[in-house]
Amino acid sequence: MNNNMDNNANNLVNNSMNSQNNTGYNQVNYNTNYYNNAIQNNNQTISNNQSYQNNQNYGNYYNNQYQDLINIDFANTPIVEAANTILLTASSKSASDIHFDPATDCLKVRFRIDGVLETYLHVPNIYKQNLTTRLKIMSGMNITETRLPQDGAIKTTIGNTNLDMRVSALPTKKGEKIVIRILDYSKNIKGIEHLYFSKLNFAKINKMLSVPNGIILVTGATGSGKSTTVYSFLQKLNTPDTNIITVEDPVEMEMEGLNQVQVNSEIGLDFATVLRSILRQDPNIIMIGEIRDSETAQIAVRASITGHMVVSTIHTNNSLNTIERLLDMDVERYLLASSLEGIVSQKLARKLCDKCKRFRPTTQFEKTIFKNFLNMDVNQIYEPVGCPECNRGYKGRIAIQEVLDISQDIRDAISQGLRKDELRKLVYSRDVVSMFQDGLYKIVAGFTTLDEILKLVELDDEVSDNKEITDMITKR
Ligand SMILES: [Zn+2]
Repeated sequence: MNNNMDNNANNLVNNSMNSQNNTGYNQVNYNTNYYNNAIQNNNQTISNNQSYQNNQNYGNYYNNQYQDLINIDFANTPIVEAANTILLTASSKSASDIHFDPATDCLKVRFRIDGVLETYLHVPNIYKQNLTTRLKIMSGMNITETRLPQDGAIKTTIGNTNLDMRVSALPTKKGEKIVIRILDYSKNIKGIEHLYFSKLNFAKINKMLSVPNGIILVTGATGSGKSTTVYSFLQKLNTPDTNIITVEDPVEMEMEGLNQVQVNSEIGLDFATVLRSILRQDPNIIMIGEIRDSETAQIAVRASITGHMVVSTIHTNNSLNTIERLLDMDVERYLLASSLEGIVSQKLARKLCDKCKRFRPTTQFEKTIFKNFLNMDVNQIYEPVGCPECNRGYKGRIAIQEVLDISQDIRDAISQGLRKDELRKLVYSRDVVSMFQDGLYKIVAGFTTLDEILKLVELDDEVSDNKEITDMITKR
């Protein structure tokens, strides 16, 4: 049985790697160690799980996860310890946020893990006030003030765990709601090779980063991992012979060797003001936290034209919209055309847990999707299961990316003002793998699921030229 399954796994992998098609999959093997790991994990999982059918017992665990609350006996636990337990548990589960929601009969504690908010604890009403007060003391807030919003921070070490948290209190009708953002970038910055770029995209990124001047933009919605990507780029560029200056709001991660400037609009220290000073500081590389207004956009373009590399983020959902957005910000076409070096668009999908994921045959719907968008015959993919180490079969997140390196024909198109649909044709007729396709490849490689990818991708933008398929996906 195991051998049989191993062969299936190998076939899947071989099919994937041998598949010759115009979407460039032969170049898109996730070869930066991950693809090979994924293959090994496939084999392991198969030898752990006996067969598709034999896995009914995993179903129970899946259902029981709803009761996965923290256990705190408030009657016999000092409030200091109770608060620490909540913070440490959230940190150990890699939560990004902790919510303390006042409800009528309790204080609900929810964790956001891998983008999903879920209730972990109900604090009985009689301990509600004590816990809220304790959190406000820890974060340096005024405990007598309950009617105005407050901001605070927790920077401490409990046991062996370093906690770095931004805390916000908001007076709601039912009492103060406290939200804690766990700042944990240090865990995430391991280098570009750990960002799950396909081999093709990885090569494009390295090429972009080796150019001495130009603009590289990372685009995506809030919470799409843009900062992690930008800091990873800076980590690579951060060598003793370069002067890197950043202007950020806020400085999300401190990195040795960078000159990081925090925007402070209360005293008039905005992006544009800082940028003008930065240009007199002999920079090689300038990182702008986010391009939000036309003044910043214009300075960014001018800085790159005068021989600097500019790395920044912008809040758009794909490469084409980014170009449009910059033009809307009154950046001159010819300047944009000559300064833009590359655009990395990304979204985050939940990552399958390597410990418990298992193979299953693809449905007809899935076969059609893979055939249409990757020109691949995919007969089996992984599905989430659920085990004590993960959240219903998922653990962590993985970016799906689209990388556009600006070629001469795209520069010409931008400066000549080509219509958006013509520009789209030009972009995707080259070796650009769309975010949707990248997501599909990452399903084949066993990193995530079609459910996750379909949640993320705006079909209008991705597949509008294939009405039949769009309908099929929408009606699913
Ligand atoms: Zn698991």
